[in-house]
Amino acid sequence: MIVKKSVLSPGTPFATPYYVVNSLQPGPVFMVVSGIHGNERASIRAAKSLAGRFTRKELLLRKGKLIIVPLVNQKAYRKCIRGVPDLNRTFPGSAKSRASHPLAAALFELARRYHPSWYLDLHEANGLSQKNRKRVGQTLIISPGSKAAPVARQIVKRMNESISVPAYSFNIHLRERSGTSRMAMQRILGARAVTVETCWSLSFPLRVRYQTEIVVHFLRAAGLTH
Ligand SMILES: [Zn+2]
Repeated sequence: MIVKKSVLSPGTPFATPYYVVNSLQPGPVFMVVSGIHGNERASIRAAKSLAGRFTRKELLLRKGKLIIVPLVNQKAYRKCIRGVPDLNRTFPGSAKSRASHPLAAALFELARRYHPSWYLDLHEANGLSQKNRKRVGQTLIISPGSKAAPVARQIVKRMNESISVPAYSFNIHLRERSGTSRMAMQRILGARAVTVETCWSLSFPLRVRYQTEIVVHFLRAAGLTH
């Protein structure tokens, strides 16, 4: 296994590190991104920590490749804001359109180069989905008819079996929203794409734990890890 750290958008104000974990065995390409919104700290921490664990070989890939971009929007992160404009509305809506932000364009180009069959976009949100179905805190968001649905449902079930506070249970949300990275990766690249949302009202360590566990479950389900 080889882990290579590189820089996305080098030499620009958007420069940010990414990691390619190569098992050196054929298999699926799996991409994980976080920090498209700069103020969603637990997801960023989880993605950074996973990249570190693969770099130190505490975690190993059995097959395929894993690409991790732990903190997409460095500028928004430094200001501790979601980001202006909202980067997750600037991704291409179809193969014929283009990203309307240079950072979204760079991230999409990276994905196009590796062509992931799995794509996880880590986020955080207000409100518990278990208490109010309109809220997306503690959800996995997929499009109606998504190929990722069976695995996403299985992982929600697995997560909920280990969650002792019922209000913190995860739910599946079905949603289409053009301009999001999830929709771009799914529509244009055909990836099984899932948005992961923890809820801000939970403690930081618990949110990091849930984010990490969900990514680990997906990696295993996709066959990249044991
Ligand atoms: Zn977000």
